Amino acid sequence: MIKIPGMTDPHVHLRSMDWSHKGTFASETAAALAGGYTLVLDMPNTPPSTTSRPALDRKLAEIGAQAVCDWGVYFGASQSDNTGQFAGVSREICGLKIYCNATTGDLLVEDQALRRRIYQSWPLDRMIAVHAEGATVPQILGLVRQTRKRTHFCHISTADEIASLTRAKNDGLPVSVGVTPHHLYLTQDDLPTLGPLGLMKPELKTPADQKALWEALESGIVDVVESDHAPHTLAEKRSEKPPFGVPGLEATLSLLLLAVQEGRLTLERAVDLVASAPRRVFGIANPPETYTLVDLDQSWLVEDASLRTAARWSPFAGMRLPGRVVEVRLRGTKVFDGQDVLVADGFGTNRFGRS
Ligand SMILES: [Zn+2]
Repeated sequence: MIKIPGMTDPHVHLRSMDWSHKGTFASETAAALAGGYTLVLDMPNTPPSTTSRPALDRKLAEIGAQAVCDWGVYFGASQSDNTGQFAGVSREICGLKIYCNATTGDLLVEDQALRRRIYQSWPLDRMIAVHAEGATVPQILGLVRQTRKRTHFCHISTADEIASLTRAKNDGLPVSVGVTPHHLYLTQDDLPTLGPLGLMKPELKTPADQKALWEALESGIVDVVESDHAPHTLAEKRSEKPPFGVPGLEATLSLLLLAVQEGRLTLERAVDLVASAPRRVFGIANPPETYTLVDLDQSWLVEDASLRTAARWSPFAGMRLPGRVVEVRLRGTKVFDGQDVLVADGFGTNRFGRS
């Protein structure tokens, strides 16, 4: 049995609001507890996008009423330039998200001049998280070099991106790197089997890229493992135009424990990647008596029916994984006993300012 203090996932999409048919703050934070997490940071792209004061207020009210684990929310930078609102929201959120690639609508910021304005306008003491792929990574690094603002590179997936970020870290830039369990465990070779269940952004890459991610995990270039939990219904995934994204909160810890079993990571490093490292990177203290107990001698079969995410499917279905979450405590209260959530909706709090 191991005790992990304050498991934290800095990158989830909890749905709810206009996408409540895909999942709700209640159902997806229950999935977080089942996966061992006591704190999750929610991305701004569930409609209505968190790019304005009213949209932020709605999200804070709804997540505050429903979440069963602690939480933070990102504000989203917008194509139509919402930099004027940054000062007014920065005390209630965990950071700013900039979508530089691969999204649709107002959240996509491709104009480098606007990205520069966003970097210049953002208060120094809150994280900027970026979705940047390929040639966009060096563009963002240029802004980090100029402004020295702390930047987290989400779901890095290629050897080239790892090389750019390794140079940036060697130069002392304030950057951190996240990778996802699906890019660590799946490649484009799995697409024929997975079909639409293997579609996400960034897309699955080559085995050579996958190898670079594992090497970067071992060398310490990768700071955190983030699930990028992004549930969609099975019907949506099997439709003519499947949306991008896969659920991940419930399997991430066990996938890392599998890497420990296979001798690819030490247990200490695996635990660091989902607990102390994300808290260190985002500057989050762990409340007293907030931890997860995991029985390393038990294993579990990833089966759609046994998952708590409202999506009820996983790209890892059929895998037998080590490590069973048997208890989660949040601020002294037992919130999950390995079977059931033991607290009412709304028990979770905003770790960033008032909730
Ligand atoms: Zn994401």
